[in-house]
Amino acid sequence: MFELVFFGTSASAPSIHRGLSSQVVMHDEYRFLIDCGEGTQRQILQSGLGFKRLNRILITHGHLDHILGLAGLLSTFMRWETIEDLQIYGGKWALDRVRDLLFGVVLRGATPPMLLTLHEISTGMIFKGDDFQISAFPVWHRGPDCYGYLFEEKSRRPFLPEKADTLGLPPGPWRRDIVNGQQVTLPDGRIISPDDVLGPERPGTRLVHIGDVGRTDDLADICRDADALVIESTYLDEEAEMARQFAHMTARGAAELAARAGVKNLLITHISRRYRERDVLAEARSIFPNTVVARDFDMFQIRRDECVRIEKLEPGS
Ligand SMILES: [Zn+2]
Ligand SMILES: [Zn+2]
Repeated sequence: MFELVFFGTSASAPSIHRGLSSQVVMHDEYRFLIDCGEGTQRQILQSGLGFKRLNRILITHGHLDHILGLAGLLSTFMRWETIEDLQIYGGKWALDRVRDLLFGVVLRGATPPMLLTLHEISTGMIFKGDDFQISAFPVWHRGPDCYGYLFEEKSRRPFLPEKADTLGLPPGPWRRDIVNGQQVTLPDGRIISPDDVLGPERPGTRLVHIGDVGRTDDLADICRDADALVIESTYLDEEAEMARQFAHMTARGAAELAARAGVKNLLITHISRRYRERDVLAEARSIFPNTVVARDFDMFQIRRDECVRIEKLEPGS
């Protein structure tokens, strides 16, 4: 399962109700902040999640509405918070700008108070945990080196308790070993292999995050069967020409990608102040009914075939 919290859902400038782009994906003890628009640190505090273990940041691209918050966050980490290391992942162009911001403006020759690493990424796996991994893939937007991120749990073969009972496999370490793929020998001498009690392989949960993007024709494969797709929708179809000009997506375009790729749930973000939320939602839902327009502090749990909004984190709670 992945948990996802939106800290900021506004396009290019904040609005009264929406902060600039930032969200966090959580899995077990891991937290990955994706983008860090101006004001993100306050949103993190208001969400109640705090800064703990928030030491990995993935950047989609180097536009200011996605990175300026890094300066404030580092400034706070320098004075108030103890964090042992801070790792920032992104494409070259984004990282060049992040480096200027952090080392040129915030630190100006001072030593960072933690191990600060900028990881320049390219297409492919960028992070591997015990039972999940993150891959980066290129997306087309203004400027070079823009990336989307795929969070993917390992596929697993489910343990079938009825079969185990039929075979008389006792609970305890034997079952654990079998789930880990080992053959076991029972006290009575019988040998039971994983194939006897494990079902067919089931793919793990897949969550795709796409930041600013102007084209989707090359994204259907990476999004295929994703349990949730997060993608920007800065424009409505009535201004599709402007969307093209600025290399952004319309709600219709996002929904068409979701439908084409067979994703289970569509979460759209990077919403412009020029539209009403319900119009954005209506346009997307006319093509892909399982759409939600994300709001700041929305929290989702994403499992295989399922994306549940578990609570709305109220500011100040
Ligand atoms: Zn943006
Ligand atoms: Zn952008």
